[in-house]
Amino acid sequence: MSVTSASCLCGAVKLEIRGDPRMKNLCHCSSCQKFTGGIFGSFAAYAVEQVTFTESEPDVLKTYNDTTPESGSVLRRSFCGKCGSPVRIQTSSLPDALVVPVGVIDGDKAGLQTPGGVILQGQGGLGRCRREC
Ligand SMILES: [Zn+2]
Ligand SMILES: [Zn+2]
Repeated sequence: MSVTSASCLCGAVKLEIRGDPRMKNLCHCSSCQKFTGGIFGSFAAYAVEQVTFTESEPDVLKTYNDTTPESGSVLRRSFCGKCGSPVRIQTSSLPDALVVPVGVIDGDKAGLQTPGGVILQGQGGLGRCRREC
């Protein structure tokens, strides 16, 4: 099984990811735009047991309970308390899943691209937060 490393910008939060994502998605909802700072978020979803988090300080990993996503779910959006990088999303509706923003994953991201490629084709065609995000 492949093992992939990931980290926040400052390196205080590190992840070890075992195996391939169960799902990949792009989300253009306003919550993900604000969380990631980009026009869309690019995410990879894993089973909880595939991902191990370590922090250099016990309380550096912060979590914001986002009640605003258009899916209606409450999303637990976690980020590094030092550098602010988003590193994890979880939702109680899918307790076995854990979503990682693709940008924090180290190395080649070719295998993490979302099928379909083209992103911005007008508001109506944009993907939204679903339960996985
Ligand atoms: Zn950091
Ligand atoms: Zn979203």
